[in-house]
Amino acid sequence: MPGDADAIVVGSGPNGLAAAVTLAAAGLRVQVIEGAAVPGGGCRTQELTLPGFRHDVCSAAHPLALASPFFRRFAPAARGVRFAHPEVVYAHPLDGGRAAVITRSVADTAARLGGDAEAYRRLMQPLADGGNAIADAVLSSMRRPPSYSGALAVYARLGLRSAAAVADRFHTDEARGLFAGVAAHAMLPLTAPPTAGVALLLGSLAHTVGWPVVAGGSARLTDAMIDTIVATGGQVETGSWVRSLADLPPAPATLLDVAPRAFIAMAGEQLPARYRDALGRFRYGPGICKVDFALSGPVPWRNEAARQAGTLHLGGGFEEIAAAEAAVARGEHPDSPYVLVVQASVADPSRAPRGKHTLWSYCHVPSGSTVDMTARVEAQIERFAPGFTDLALARHTRTAAQEEEMNPNYVGGDIACGLQTVRQVPARPAGRWNPYRTPLRGVYLCSSATPPGPGVHGRCGELAALTALRDVFGVREPPDLGTLRPRPAAGALGTP
Ligand SMILES: Cc1cc2nc3c(=O)[nH]c(=O)nc-3n(C[C@H](O)[C@H](O)[C@H](O)COP(=O)(O)OP(=O)(O)OC[C@H]3O[C@@H](n4cnc5c(N)ncnc54)[C@H](O)[C@@H]3O)c2cc1C
Repeated sequence: MPGDADAIVVGSGPNGLAAAVTLAAAGLRVQVIEGAAVPGGGCRTQELTLPGFRHDVCSAAHPLALASPFFRRFAPAARGVRFAHPEVVYAHPLDGGRAAVITRSVADTAARLGGDAEAYRRLMQPLADGGNAIADAVLSSMRRPPSYSGALAVYARLGLRSAAAVADRFHTDEARGLFAGVAAHAMLPLTAPPTAGVALLLGSLAHTVGWPVVAGGSARLTDAMIDTIVATGGQVETGSWVRSLADLPPAPATLLDVAPRAFIAMAGEQLPARYRDALGRFRYGPGICKVDFALSGPVPWRNEAARQAGTLHLGGGFEEIAAAEAAVARGEHPDSPYVLVVQASVADPSRAPRGKHTLWSYCHVPSGSTVDMTARVEAQIERFAPGFTDLALARHTRTAAQEEEMNPNYVGGDIACGLQTVRQVPARPAGRWNPYRTPLRGVYLCSSATPPGPGVHGRCGELAALTALRDVFGVREPPDLGTLRPRPAAGALGTP
């Protein structure tokens, strides 16, 4: 197709592919150009440790995919993607074998929280009941007021606060730790707003849709989007890093699934100084150090229920996690870091040879860190699962600096492609009415540096594509993704 595509998409992360799917559904011929050898960006699966052990390279837990208006329209299940739900959505182990445990039922979760049962039920039941309305509002361009719902009003009132402020309604170590663990996904100090918003969104989705893994690995979701693009005559080309917009084949529309910093470099002097300066002021967050394990058996969590959990948040009680996150924000590497763990093989045995398991984990570190945190991550797991270290058959570690080497969107190892502060969430990547449109005619940004921000939900890509469809092709109605039909196709270039 070189030179005859209607639209070029640079980058094949979930947002680039969602953009390409949306454009293809409108009948356009799309060419996706990816720099890495394997497509998918933050949604890939590879044998990182040993043959037969399939690790999610980046995203592993998919509440946002299930809740996303884009993926609801794309209907992954109808395209052969199966979401595998663990019995326990997430767990928060504490010292002495205690743990707080979230299941799909608010009542069941509350019942396990002792003295905080009623406080949990009062906070979370309305949010869980209105989880889809909250997700629709949050997973939007944030440019129009959402339709009113009671749940949304509660979410807006509490979500703009800090986790520390909202966690004050809980008194037990379990409920407070649970709140800290989910709030820390925000990669901000727990005293900063809107960390409560992240906790309440992800916490409500645990009850509304669950936090499943993708059976066979996150890459299956990527494959389903690529298959759809190729079936409509589009192409996905890998191994071609785009350094300059001038290197791209001519096309009426170009959508960039890249970080603002990369866009500045690609566009050079073409960008008006004011916009370039605004992109230059875009703030990136801390990085992560990711450690994947191949295990000879299941993790021996001291707490029985934690063994059934898909995701676990480690780091102890609220104050300990808050201290670890504050240390990272100060540029320090905590000795006892907050560690996120996904044990995908609990819900999806296909990830490892029979009886064996994979374990996915990461901790937060200062931006650009080259420190290997494997020992500290392992010590944190061992604290709640004595004997864990003896099960490790192999480990694979990526420091924050190596995360950026793998994917330039993760500037300094920031997997969110930009801080999620109250100001920067709606004003990603610059304060403009339409955040996807750039000053360059026909050129759009569609990465998670645009609203609604990080996560595998495809909405940045879809919303950028809808803008391009309106501006460039005069298509005003969102195309029906259900109508995507195969066309005589050119095939996927270089797609493994
Ligand atoms: C370790 C880790 C764990 C995560 N866990 C979760 C999780 O459990 N659940 C969840 O929902 N989200 C998770 N995320 C976040 C999620 O993966 C990202 O928010 C999401 O992938 C962003 O999608 P994107 O399309 O904007 O960018 P990306 O997925 O980063 O894709 C960008 C793509 O563009 C390519 N690219 C960039 N620049 C160029 C260029 N110049 N030329 C050509 N190609 C280029 C990159 O190689 C990459 O393939 C995680 C991320 C990481 C890294």
